[in-house]
Amino acid sequence: MYFPSWLSQLYKGLSRPIRRTTQPIWGSLYRSLVQSSQRTNPEFNSFAVRTNTCGELRSSHLGQEVTLCGWIQYRRQNTFLVLRDFHGLVQVVIPQDESAASVKKILCEAPVESVVRVSGTVTSRPAGQENPKMPTGKIEIKVKTAELLNACKKLPFEIKDFMKKTEALRLQYRYLDLRSFQMQYNLRLRSQMVMKMREYLCNLHGFVDIETPTLFKRTPGGAKEFLVPSREPGKFYSLPQSPQQFKQLLMVGGLDRYFQVARCYRDEGSRPDRQPEFTQIDIEMSFVDQTGIQSLIEGLLQYSWPNDKDPVVVPFPTVTFTEALATYGTDKPDTRFGMKIIDISDVFRNTEIGFLQDALSKPHGTVKAICIPEGAEILPVFLNANRNWNSPVANFIMESQRLELIRLMDTQEEDVVLLTAGEHSKACSLLGKLRLECADLLETRGMVLRDPTLFSFLWVVDFPLFLPKEENPRELESAHHPFTAPHPSDIHLLYTEPKKARSQHYDLVLNGNEIGGGSIRIHNAELQRYILATLLKEDVKILSHLLQALDYGAPPHGGIALGLDRLICLVTGSPSIRDVIAFPKSFRGHDLMSNAPDSIPPEELKPYHIRVSWPTDSKAERAH
Ligand code: ASP
Repeated sequence: MYFPSWLSQLYKGLSRPIRRTTQPIWGSLYRSLVQSSQRTNPEFNSFAVRTNTCGELRSSHLGQEVTLCGWIQYRRQNTFLVLRDFHGLVQVVIPQDESAASVKKILCEAPVESVVRVSGTVTSRPAGQENPKMPTGKIEIKVKTAELLNACKKLPFEIKDFMKKTEALRLQYRYLDLRSFQMQYNLRLRSQMVMKMREYLCNLHGFVDIETPTLFKRTPGGAKEFLVPSREPGKFYSLPQSPQQFKQLLMVGGLDRYFQVARCYRDEGSRPDRQPEFTQIDIEMSFVDQTGIQSLIEGLLQYSWPNDKDPVVVPFPTVTFTEALATYGTDKPDTRFGMKIIDISDVFRNTEIGFLQDALSKPHGTVKAICIPEGAEILPVFLNANRNWNSPVANFIMESQRLELIRLMDTQEEDVVLLTAGEHSKACSLLGKLRLECADLLETRGMVLRDPTLFSFLWVVDFPLFLPKEENPRELESAHHPFTAPHPSDIHLLYTEPKKARSQHYDLVLNGNEIGGGSIRIHNAELQRYILATLLKEDVKILSHLLQALDYGAPPHGGIALGLDRLICLVTGSPSIRDVIAFPKSFRGHDLMSNAPDSIPPEELKPYHIRVSWPTDSKAERAH
């Protein structure tokens, strides 16, 4: 198989996000994915009852007798058919002579999207009828025999990427939606990236791919877990939120380097762009430190990155959690654009403006601001750079303060400065949200702030080990999970001021999305027990197996998990993670195709010693 150079051009088109795709470019789909990722070319026709795929035929095949299988994409005046498979489109000429009447009947009567097998000769298209936009556009198939493999009934929607359809309809008929160019592209790119990740981890770095159980028991802290009833009265399995305990136990077992494309389950209710089941590239290794894991992941992404994108540049920049919060107001900053938060407290130390005075007099009180370039376009102006500041507080700002503010913020004509006063972290997170809102607004006005071809990776490190619990701020919870080791220089703080202890937890951020997180683990049973029992007030009995294992010569170890769905979503520029999962759940966690979750008759629940207690209103509904 050969790959002409224009394919790389077409491949650029393939990576366009779904909403911008106007015309499917079927012909180059699989070929270019293969070109971009594989060293050996796969044989697409082995074991099948065809000789070729629809997308592969060229002038070099002229005169060959071929057999093709595919779906009828469309038909023109009962003379031509366009046949489609995963590989591309090809034109088929319907025979018009009497002797081939039965072939003509099959091909003219089969509805669009029926699946057929045709045999015939590859011929040149008549001069002037070539289609340069189609990779197979110079040839056509003169059909001799045809077989209707299966007819297609009236479709709920047309199989064309540019036809608008609701997501509910796409999910209900997912198997039809999967025929679209964009879904084919997303799933094949996902498969290629995972294949390269496996190659990098197993073949280049000696990792072992190990499956861990999905029927497990409750893990303290973290997300809510799905329960699975067992036949023992009152006993339940839990579906693991991640293989965290198993991967650490594999290190105790001397496996040294583990990875898994792991399915994880979190019962977190409906949240945009979360799925109750999702996939992680889960990694753990022994005798490693934080920089070792970071370099491993940088190499992994570099190696598996699609060739048509700008190469991944390593090492990725690093910021501390504290810097990220102070500069971007979030622990997952989008570093594709500026508009950083600036502390302007000093400008207002002697201010007469009441609310600023008030804020600055409090502990951790600050005044912060961001400068929105050309923000006057999108916002009613609060403070702008020219002399006639359009703001209710403008009259109270002294000339010297105004000049200092302009200098600090580097404000230009037509910029808008958003200012807030209050407690440091609250002020930062408010401005962090406004920063993103303003970026959206500016982009709807046509300003390009976040280049869609840019992939901006960032490590966020030195997280606090604990955070105050949301529901009871006097209690602590783990910022990552309870197995995360404290920062070596902060261990003493665990016994004095645990809230101040930093951890060896690191997150990987891409374009403002958290795509991975991990930590160096605690391998000392006594320290692990102290953190669980004394600081987190967890029931250590639930984790006695892990604590025991740490006592039997557990090696120092650490790891990370990458969120595969989110990563592929960003790489393909898809609007939602549902677009990179073959059979995702709806926003409410339902499978709209099969209607799961579904009810179970009471007698089938009996072996599990379970009875449903219906909420009063649904009982009334069921009675109708
Ligand atoms: N198990 C962790 C998670 O799912 C990742 C890790 O610490 O390796 O977030």
